[in-house]
Amino acid sequence: MRAAVVSQACDGTVEIVERETPKVGPGEALVDVEYCGVCHTDLHVAHGDFGKVPGRILGHEGIGIVTQVAPDVTSLKVGDRVSIAWFFQGCGRCEYCTTGRETLCRSVKNAGYSVDGGMAEQCLVTADYAVKVPEGLDPAQASSITCAGVTTYKAIKVADAKPGQCVAIYGCGGLGNLAIQYAKKVFNAHVVAIDINQDKLDLALEVGADVALNAKDVNTAEYIQEHFGGAHSAVVTAVSKDAFNDAINAVRAAGKVVAVGLPSETMDLPIVKAVLDGIEVIGSLVGTRKDLEEAFQFGAEGLVVPIVQKRPLDDVAAVFAEMEAGTIQGRMVLDMKHQCACGHHH
Ligand SMILES: [Zn+2]
Ligand SMILES: [Zn+2]
Repeated sequence: MRAAVVSQACDGTVEIVERETPKVGPGEALVDVEYCGVCHTDLHVAHGDFGKVPGRILGHEGIGIVTQVAPDVTSLKVGDRVSIAWFFQGCGRCEYCTTGRETLCRSVKNAGYSVDGGMAEQCLVTADYAVKVPEGLDPAQASSITCAGVTTYKAIKVADAKPGQCVAIYGCGGLGNLAIQYAKKVFNAHVVAIDINQDKLDLALEVGADVALNAKDVNTAEYIQEHFGGAHSAVVTAVSKDAFNDAINAVRAAGKVVAVGLPSETMDLPIVKAVLDGIEVIGSLVGTRKDLEEAFQFGAEGLVVPIVQKRPLDDVAAVFAEMEAGTIQGRMVLDMKHQCACGHHH
């Protein structure tokens, strides 16, 4: 089988290699991968930012069809369409795993980082941890929900958004775009979208934002305080310290700021505001199996529609270079079944 792996140099580049199809062990299933999205996290892994993993098969936004299950597997059957997600497996026993917070498991396995992921023609999954994709959800769109979708859906849950409340979404890119859709279509919130890129703000309005603010032109915190009395919550997907600082000043008393983006900086939290206004700042990481099941279902019902662009596996190095250069609009999804010009099915 062909697979996209982290290069030996761990310098951010990827290589396509030929690998043996993995053998199914106890509790596992083999998946014939249809699509796998490319994410900023893959770029971090390829650079060795979380530790060097040369030769690791990348990909944690995989979707495919089960072709084989181990004899002891009861949760999946051949023909099921399932996910290959960043939260690949927890220990199942620790305080996080047993209290609905399995993504925080200290012994977690992550697809495309600590175990081989979905950027391959075939991939092993731990059957009890692979989430089934419901009928009616396009597999390429499902691939985007496996990471960006569930991450933003969970973040809005963590924000505890209620119908009619004002939710500020900072950053309207691949994550923010889905955050807006979940906040508006699923949680019925009043959504204020913030970005510094007008194209992204136009898209934000198209997918359901009630108001779009360009942080280059307006003081977003002042605007939100003045027009809405402050946001009930803010979800920050932007990779920018300024966005985090603005979000803290944009929320009203008892407001929640949910941190999703990962700039390698610190934010300024005014202690007086935090104490007198009872502000909460909460980090939120991907989502549990249950969160993903729900996020998929809203996609299947057509409430949330990820914007994806399909590319053949052979384009993987180019896609990584484009991501590095910041020229990607929407989500790039590798199409594992794409027939290249030679006519062979790779
Ligand atoms: Zn991702
Ligand atoms: Zn655990």
